[in-house]
Amino acid sequence: MNEKINVSILIIGAGPAGTAAALGAKEAGEDSILIIDRDTRAGGILNQCIHDGFGLMRYKRALSGPEYAQLDIDSCHKKNIPILTDTYVHTIIKGDDHFTIKAIATGRLYSIKAKAVILAMGCRERTAGAISLPGSRPAGIYTAGTAQRLLNMQNTLVGRSCVIVGSGDIGLIMARRMTLEGAKVQAVTELQSYPGGLDRNIRQCLDDFDIPLYLETGIVSVHGNDRVCGITIAPLRSDRTLDMKNSQYITCDTILLSVGLIPENELSRSLDIAIDPITQGPIVTGDLMTSCPGVFACGNVLQVHDIVDLVSEEAKRAGRTAVSFVSGAYADTKELFSIYAGEKIRYCVPQVITPSSTTTLSLRVTEPITDATISITNDATLIKKRRYSFTQPSEMIQIEISVPENLVGSLEVNCE
Ligand SMILES: Cc1cc2nc3c(=O)[nH]c(=O)nc-3n(C[C@H](O)[C@H](O)[C@H](O)COP(=O)(O)OP(=O)(O)OC[C@H]3O[C@@H](n4cnc5c(N)ncnc54)[C@H](O)[C@@H]3O)c2cc1C
Repeated sequence: MNEKINVSILIIGAGPAGTAAALGAKEAGEDSILIIDRDTRAGGILNQCIHDGFGLMRYKRALSGPEYAQLDIDSCHKKNIPILTDTYVHTIIKGDDHFTIKAIATGRLYSIKAKAVILAMGCRERTAGAISLPGSRPAGIYTAGTAQRLLNMQNTLVGRSCVIVGSGDIGLIMARRMTLEGAKVQAVTELQSYPGGLDRNIRQCLDDFDIPLYLETGIVSVHGNDRVCGITIAPLRSDRTLDMKNSQYITCDTILLSVGLIPENELSRSLDIAIDPITQGPIVTGDLMTSCPGVFACGNVLQVHDIVDLVSEEAKRAGRTAVSFVSGAYADTKELFSIYAGEKIRYCVPQVITPSSTTTLSLRVTEPITDATISITNDATLIKKRRYSFTQPSEMIQIEISVPENLVGSLEVNCE
């Protein structure tokens, strides 16, 4: 059956970003909003994150993932914002003054006309293929998120003895979770000289359970035919090659991969939206508008966040600016200036800014730095300076800046 829908703002993804964007748009006075999600229920990835620690910034209390997500879902219901689940958006076509979005559900094909689109599709995990994991491909190799979903939502423990490759937050959380469920986590390995996850997760998930973390360690080979039976790891020499003399074989039946997330930007690419090669999310203005006017991006599809509270805040902003776009109040003739990641800065979002605006700048450093000073400059003029006793790549830094009205040239962010 074909169904036609007309809305002002269509939001793709009903995770924390999508629901907060809808609430932001509603608060800004827009009533014609629709959220679509391919999953059977709203909430996004938080539905499988049953541990607590969410909402500390926004609600000043520790909620589990589903509890955090449910608060915004309930607000959407109360405010009559419809959420269409079990529906997959597969195409967005740009027209002269609207977008046509094609979505499929069982037995239904939707054709939706919208004045603005908010991308809130989240991200997916890198897999064994994506990192060219050496060795065989027996059963027992999972991404940490897949193991999390199987364990927390389908009550399936994926193994009894495991090694976690990569020290991203999901891997650290799963190290604790697998241990609590009776599995033995033999080790967590990490290529870098510092962990990929937040400090609090290292303490609460590894240190508290005596799980060893091997830094600067690579994978020599995965072993096993039908099922994983072990893994050989080796420390890295200073030239980043494997020191085979000191390699060790660890017996295990499961390998969990926590080796990074990739924003889900297939739809963005189909619209020819410019993508930042570092964040792998769309290039956006301070208003979170992509290079395609009328398309906004927020949450993990824009940049991988470590704290969901910041996702919700960013998404509310996207919702509000989408409303100013559809109401015609958005000045798209504004001049744009670039903002560059300089010394020891991995990336900055937004990548372009408009003069005389207030912008929340999100960034990450390239390496752990003690007594760090981050400065934002326009040529030789200092716009803002912030000091941190310690910062590292796993922590997203946010700095609010007022962009000078008479800005000439670009802004640069450096850390020393
Ligand atoms: C496996 C995993 C575990 C995580 N665990 C933690 C944790 O323990 N603690 C923490 O603070 N953060 C965690 N995070 C980070 C967390 O994802 C973010 O903080 C937050 O959930 C991002 O929200 P989002 O709405 O941007 O994305 P998501 O929550 O991923 O929501 C995106 C939604 O978009 C939908 N979607 C995507 N494409 C389409 C399409 N084409 N059509 C329709 N719907 C679509 C998806 O079904 C999904 O529901 C985890 C992330 C992952 C991937």
